[in-house]
Amino acid sequence: MQVPFLDLRRAGPELDTALTAAFERVLKSGRYIMGPEVDAFEAKCAAFIGVKHAIGVSSGTDALLAVLMALEIGPGDEVIVPTYTFFATAGVVWRLGATPIFVDVDPRDFNVTAKNIAAALTERTKAIVPVHLFGQCADISAIEAVAGGIPVIEDAAQAIGSELRGTMAGALGLAGCFSFFPAKNLGALGDAGLITTNDDALAERIRRLRAHGSKPKYHHAIVGGNFRIDALQAALLNVKLDRLHEATERRRANARFYGEALTPYAGLAPTESADRRHVYNQYVIQTGERDRVQAHLRDRGVATAVYYPRPLHQQPCFASLEPGPLPVSERLARETLALPIFPELTSAERSHVAQVLREALGAPA
Ligand SMILES: *Cc1c(COP(=O)(O)O)cnc(C)c1O
Repeated sequence: MQVPFLDLRRAGPELDTALTAAFERVLKSGRYIMGPEVDAFEAKCAAFIGVKHAIGVSSGTDALLAVLMALEIGPGDEVIVPTYTFFATAGVVWRLGATPIFVDVDPRDFNVTAKNIAAALTERTKAIVPVHLFGQCADISAIEAVAGGIPVIEDAAQAIGSELRGTMAGALGLAGCFSFFPAKNLGALGDAGLITTNDDALAERIRRLRAHGSKPKYHHAIVGGNFRIDALQAALLNVKLDRLHEATERRRANARFYGEALTPYAGLAPTESADRRHVYNQYVIQTGERDRVQAHLRDRGVATAVYYPRPLHQQPCFASLEPGPLPVSERLARETLALPIFPELTSAERSHVAQVLREALGAPA
């Protein structure tokens, strides 16, 4: 049996029909930038996440960039970020001329801890960007408790619908940044992103930055960029947002299945904290024999992926910062492996994955 890591074409004819209708509506409207489709998507996202403001943008990367620009982060400033994350979290800091300060993560839930952040704070720290990695919230309340008023910006790119103590990702910090890259839990048919906040002044500033900082048109008191979401992507995402809850429940069911199958292997399966709702953008196991296990799965038809093979503090582009060592993340980069978890995975496929994985691991210790 061949099991793909992710298959975006499986969502089926019902979704295709609804997406095609949305496409035709936008096509015939002649309105391709901003307008009612964007307004409707933003309103629906704000209600879903439980925030005052939801601002559609061009990508998850641009969401992070625009928020840091709104906070006037620049040369001489430090921004604390996890080293074990996707590149964009730190890339945007560097692009603004500020310094990413890399911190290590918790070995069980892969997220930055308040303790590690507290140790990295200096008088130059201007923002903290925890990542809700793989779809489980970092403990934003604990991080805010040590932050002493420094803005905490959630990188919620992998975590739409995820919760910490009943509050959704994106409603926890000063602002939340989401990605609708196709492989994320809510995926566009291209690039798109979202910023959430309850802060009126910040929202106003971000909306202005989204269109070159202009207000009114052709008057620029600040410099922004083109960070707009396409009306077409907003219309398509509107359709998919209606189906997100069900898709997330299927991811969670797949995770429960793997969790039960892997119970005998202590420390292998990812954990869900009792006070969170994990949305499993990725299902990431850890094993000291990662490369051998991955090769065995590949030979038996199961596609997997490694997130992330190299922590950011070890990326050549950041060598001048002389960061590290950050031992937990360095070990995770060698030992983590993501299994297929997408909502349309069949029960035969996930059984095959679990069986082949047990074969690779041998009898539990
Ligand atoms: C995907 C992702 C981003 C970037 O989102 P894009 O929409 O691809 O620009 C940022 N941070 C994290 C943690 C991500 O997973």
